[in-house]
Amino acid sequence: MTDCIFCRIVSGEFGTELLGETEHAVAFRDINPEMPVHLLVVPKKHYRDITDLVAADADALIDVAQLAARLAEEHTSDGSYKFLFNTGENAGQTVFHAHAHILSQMPKSN
Ligand code: 5GP
Ligand code: ZN
Repeated sequence: MTDCIFCRIVSGEFGTELLGETEHAVAFRDINPEMPVHLLVVPKKHYRDITDLVAADADALIDVAQLAARLAEEHTSDGSYKFLFNTGENAGQTVFHAHAHILSQMPKSN
């Protein structure tokens, strides 16, 4: 049993709707959106932040970036998006399972 909230989402414990999935990554909506489009992409395996992910798992890193690009295409009207990794407490990281924020002011209309 893990107390990592994103490991628990990945395992399906909360029935969180997954917006996309690859072999090594999944995506879901941020629970507290800061923009009209605010999605999270996380590696299925636990790494504390993007620095650890880059050092340890190139396959998962590529999956996170590719899934982010696909989601931006699907969820934004113009394909523009912020791709953000808060890294470390002083940078505002609050969940210590690596995750990319996908942010956009331009949701797809349907
Ligand atoms: P950080 O500040 O660590 O970069 O981002 C963590 C993000 O995770 C925050 O934007 C927060 O709203 C989101 N979050 C925290 N707990 C949950 C949760 O249980 N479910 C979902 N979908 N998002 C969460
Ligand atoms: Zn985790």
